[in-house]
Amino acid sequence: MTITPLMPVYPRCGVRPVRGEGAYLFGENGERYLDFASGIAVNLLGHGHPSYTRALQDQVATLMHVSNLYGSPQGEAFAQRLVDNSFADTVFFTNSGAEAVECAIKTARRYHFASGNPHKNTLICFNNAFHGRTLGAISATNQEKMRDGFEPLLPGFKYAPFDDLEAALALVDDNTAGFLVEPVQGEGGIRPASKEFLQGLRKICDERDLMLVLDEVQCGVARTGTLYAYEQYGIEPDIIASAKGIGGGFPMGACLATEKAAKGMVIGTHGSTYGGNPLAMAAGQAVFDVILEPGFMEKVKATGERLRATLEQLIPNHDHLFESVRGMGLMLGVKMKSDSRAFVAHARDKHGLLLVAAGDNVVRVLPPLIIEQSHIDEFAGLMSEAARSYTPPA
Ligand SMILES: *Cc1c(COP(=O)(O)O)cnc(C)c1O
Repeated sequence: MTITPLMPVYPRCGVRPVRGEGAYLFGENGERYLDFASGIAVNLLGHGHPSYTRALQDQVATLMHVSNLYGSPQGEAFAQRLVDNSFADTVFFTNSGAEAVECAIKTARRYHFASGNPHKNTLICFNNAFHGRTLGAISATNQEKMRDGFEPLLPGFKYAPFDDLEAALALVDDNTAGFLVEPVQGEGGIRPASKEFLQGLRKICDERDLMLVLDEVQCGVARTGTLYAYEQYGIEPDIIASAKGIGGGFPMGACLATEKAAKGMVIGTHGSTYGGNPLAMAAGQAVFDVILEPGFMEKVKATGERLRATLEQLIPNHDHLFESVRGMGLMLGVKMKSDSRAFVAHARDKHGLLLVAAGDNVVRVLPPLIIEQSHIDEFAGLMSEAARSYTPPA
């Protein structure tokens, strides 16, 4: 037998964390890492945040899970909080981002079905997007490496170049249900959509009664300095898929929708055994208790500006490596002139700095939202040391 007990689908690196503290991770042998990856934009409050940890401990001891057979005071309260703080009128809780995307796709299709237009079942998606690994989500994700060998995929998806309004509009026909788009592409290389693009999609959705579905799994929940990124685009979506940061490390997601968009999602149309269980709701509430504190989002924006300025200052000194900085809030990317994966490995293995590689040779910088100036200073030191000691692969 040569297969490993963990199904070998990940190229795991040598970092083997066993403990976390704020913005730091500690490995099996006590090695210390500055964690500017945050479990891929998940640990918004860092590791072991006191009020978050206490809330989960209390809830574990009180009630973890009961199923959706019963009334859910915990789910009602957290859904109400999401509704009060967003465009949404209603929420379905999931256990992951891909499931939130699945619910969003189903909600969009079902809207047209319930409106007497079952042929309007096709979502227009975008190149270099990432929507997750379920069959529905890879069908929406136009990337060979995630699809090879998993065919047949689901019909009902078309693809246009990202941020190209004309190309997207050219795909609209009588079967179009709407658009599925990340306001800021994450895995694709930290690419924020332009205002004109999202506003243009909103306009055609209004004109033709289509669904604007945003995948905010990575860019949502205060990461960009607003609860959801759409707030910075002067539009409101019909449906959002949210996950990653929403549970602060506890696996959960949510599909948010307007009353109109959710008109087909009636009793029996969707479900999940775990979705929205009391422990997940406690995690979400504990995250929101922190991020909705007055001044928190402003601080994320200000910290994001300082981190961005720090990165921009690095470029002139290392312009053989780095090209530009992009992103919003604390969702930042450094575009490299060579393979970003090799640089991420170097910073990790030689300098104890955790980052995440993304498409388009971008290094993702996704720190916990609770970082202070001292972390930025430490990061700046590690980044410039890493850049100085680095030789790009030939
Ligand atoms: C991570 C991600 C997903 C998938 O989330 P999972 O929790 O891994 O299923 C979907 N969309 C976007 C934009 C993501 O970044």
